[in-house]
Amino acid sequence: MKYRAPLDPDCPEVAAFMAALLGDPMTKAMGAPSDDITEDFARRHRAKCKRCQDYGAANVEIG
Ligand SMILES: [Zn+2]
Repeated sequence: MKYRAPLDPDCPEVAAFMAALLGDPMTKAMGAPSDDITEDFARRHRAKCKRCQDYGAANVEIG
């Protein structure tokens, strides 16, 4: 069992990260952002962002 707490997509830092990722030619070549990249960012970002901590807690996914 694995828990996944998403980041708030409306968080300015998350939006900037996703925009940079989607604008990256390497990401485009791979077809979609890799889970490894986004999960690494999510872990680091959530540690310092109260907004995303609250959003993740309210929207946690179990998979
Ligand atoms: Zn955030």
